[in-house]
Amino acid sequence: MHIQTHSDVIDACRFCFMCRHLDTTGNVSFREADTPRGRALVLDRIRMNPQQLANPDFINAMYQSTLSAACRKHCVSHYDEAGLVLQARHDIVEQNLAPDAVSQLVQSIEQQFAPKLIGEGQDVLILSTHEDAFEHQFLHLTGKTVQMLHVNDTGKTPFVLGFWDQAKQMAQQITSLIKKSGCMTVVTNSPAAFDALKNDYPKWGIDWDGITIEHSSTYLARLVDAGKVTLSTNDQSVYYIDSDYLRNYNDIVTEPRQLLEQSGYQLKPFGTNPEESYALGEAAMVMDQLYPRLVELMLDRFKNMMDQAMDRIVTASPYTLRILRGAGIDVMSLEEALLASPANV
Ligand code: SF4
Repeated sequence: MHIQTHSDVIDACRFCFMCRHLDTTGNVSFREADTPRGRALVLDRIRMNPQQLANPDFINAMYQSTLSAACRKHCVSHYDEAGLVLQARHDIVEQNLAPDAVSQLVQSIEQQFAPKLIGEGQDVLILSTHEDAFEHQFLHLTGKTVQMLHVNDTGKTPFVLGFWDQAKQMAQQITSLIKKSGCMTVVTNSPAAFDALKNDYPKWGIDWDGITIEHSSTYLARLVDAGKVTLSTNDQSVYYIDSDYLRNYNDIVTEPRQLLEQSGYQLKPFGTNPEESYALGEAAMVMDQLYPRLVELMLDRFKNMMDQAMDRIVTASPYTLRILRGAGIDVMSLEEALLASPANV
């Protein structure tokens, strides 16, 4: 079983309570099974008795995890509790035990997968996975002419749901198009897409041949530092919500905040614990589709953490932006915040 690759995590987490307060699902479900310890206990039983993998409650416990990796980040030994869940999901799929809703989601992503390359011959390629205005915002901020790659998914969603073969096939097609474009740098505003290309693809044997993969925040921060981009100035107070994929998977914490501060924003700390994830299930990719009730509970918790209902939020995660905006919360993407002029704020 693939979970055997993370036996050290099962051994360590099954007797440890230390990070239970950082599990995004556990904080709203109040179930022991929704903490790293609970999941490790479940997987310890499965490790000893593999047919128990078919238990629907155990399968549900694996898919309810947000994979925020806040526990891994703040664990003193950085035990890879999120990686353990990914391996468990991989086992579930390999044994044809995936819930119907999960299989149907992956099937739908595959059916809609039709990557489209637009433009040619530019150094920078913008990869966009959401129907948002990022390309125009990027052009506005940098003045650069770019080529674009539109995809509905980079393979990240099938991967986190345990469908690794499908994820790798999508990765191969996307990589071929990126290489065909002749670009030297790929920039994306999606932390999930960034993490897929930067970390997952190389693990799947993809060699970028010198192409740099960048999240828009680090790319823009460098242009600002070099004096090549001038930001509009604001004097508003905002709360920046970290993306799980930026902070907990890639240690990108400083650059988004630096950009906001260079643009004149005063940053206020959100919530009561800076180690917690407030990204509302971002790293699970489709949490709102699979477990809408859990996301509602996370939203209630988020609202309770706000100082006031009028607080203005900024996030680098298109997923978190969509969930917060859908709940009527005043929220901007990082790029929207950088482009906002005082008259519009
Ligand atoms: S991730 Fe670390 S802190 Fe959390 S349960 Fe495992 S060993 Fe304990």
